[in-house]
Amino acid sequence: MQHFPIFLDMAGARVVLSGGGEAALAKLRLLMKTEAALEVYAPAPTQDLVDLAAEGRITLVRRSLATGDVDGAKLFYAADEDSDEDARTAAIARAEGALVNIVDNLEDSGFITPAIVDRDPVTVAIGTEGAAPVLARAIKRDLEERLPPVLGLLAKVGKAFRPMAEKLPFGRARRDFWADYYFGAGPRAFEAEGAEGAEQALDALLETHLKRAARDGHVDFVGAGPGDPELLTLKARAALDKADVVIYDRLVAPEILELARREAVMIEAGKTGFGPATKQADINAMIVEHAQGGAQVVRLKSGDPTVFGRLDEELDAVTEAGISWRIVPGITAASAAVASIGQSLTKRERNSSVRFLTGHDVEGFADHDWRALARQGEVAAIYMGKRAARFVQGRMLMHGADPSTPVSFVENASRPDQRVAEATLATMTDVLAGADMHGPVLTFYGLAPRAAAAMADACEQEIAL
Ligand code: SAH
Repeated sequence: MQHFPIFLDMAGARVVLSGGGEAALAKLRLLMKTEAALEVYAPAPTQDLVDLAAEGRITLVRRSLATGDVDGAKLFYAADEDSDEDARTAAIARAEGALVNIVDNLEDSGFITPAIVDRDPVTVAIGTEGAAPVLARAIKRDLEERLPPVLGLLAKVGKAFRPMAEKLPFGRARRDFWADYYFGAGPRAFEAEGAEGAEQALDALLETHLKRAARDGHVDFVGAGPGDPELLTLKARAALDKADVVIYDRLVAPEILELARREAVMIEAGKTGFGPATKQADINAMIVEHAQGGAQVVRLKSGDPTVFGRLDEELDAVTEAGISWRIVPGITAASAAVASIGQSLTKRERNSSVRFLTGHDVEGFADHDWRALARQGEVAAIYMGKRAARFVQGRMLMHGADPSTPVSFVENASRPDQRVAEATLATMTDVLAGADMHGPVLTFYGLAPRAAAAMADACEQEIAL
């Protein structure tokens, strides 16, 4: 880190700027947010600067900067957009003890001005050492969207309330209260009743959180189903309805998240196949921490929580912490996907058992009893099987499976954008590549969509005749 971020006290400070054009104006716009006295030296200032001076927001001196002008100033900006003039003024400012910034000249500057997200008194400064201004702008845009505009006001109101909030136990309970205020109850109250409403909301919110803190926390492990909100169980809906905190997986459909209680704190605990992931241990700790703060936690998992959901690790953590829990089952992806191809998972005289497989586990592609699977009539529902398709195909063929065994892919089962692709063991990787599926995909080994299956049967009969 070449540049160290600090927040400078500008109350009563003097800031001197040399330059009368656009660069000067851009810097002044930022500096006018502070309480500093601003002094601008410019022989030929633009009308904007003249207006600012008339409004009393800056002091305008209509000549070039000279020795002695920067004496006692905290910061100096060389903004003449002329490298010779900038070098001259910067030298004066340095000699007179000010910190110097030369606009668009990182190398000769003593400090740089970061991109700023202003929610005064909350201020976020973003710097990239001049390496990636585009990145700084993107981060700024993201934060501007994420931090409610009213956050500054809420922080001011909240500051006076801090002693009251100390009635809540230190730690999670207090943090939840403030998070709820700044991102939930506060902005809502402000929207409805303005600043006064935002202030009044604090008492009621504290009451709610005090009650919560006195209660025992609880965790419901809830199955969100495959995506269609109508496939949610009534129990799941009821749990979402009274949740204080919902910790959900990436695959859970947004329509389902919307069913959670409006006041609930929503936290994504994303886990993507081979991609970046929130560590399981962190998720466990997060669930426990919220429940220990007295929250009714819903741990929302796609499909059924007991199917490839790493449920046991979370259950162990919750049990160990002495927190009460319950499992609310959901419709697993295999059930939704098989419905969409009009088949059943088991069928008399075809398969009396069905396997749920995972294409990969924590260590990579998962191994299975391929020999048993390769027998005629076997059916398997393969979860997380997209990347493992070639591996599965290879193993099955190696163990003697019939290359014409049907294979079906169901993407986004039960969702409006559901798609089905049919293949055989021999063609499955090509079909999958051609189908270009980006959503979650359930692979069926040994099952074809009903219509296609019926047609294949008819063909076979014809050939036999
Ligand atoms: N607990 C979940 C499974 C989690 S593992 C359940 O019971 O469904 C994640 C895998 O589930 C995905 O890689 C995909 O194979 C499958 N999956 C989840 N939702 C799906 C959907 N709507 N359509 C197809 N496959 C889905």
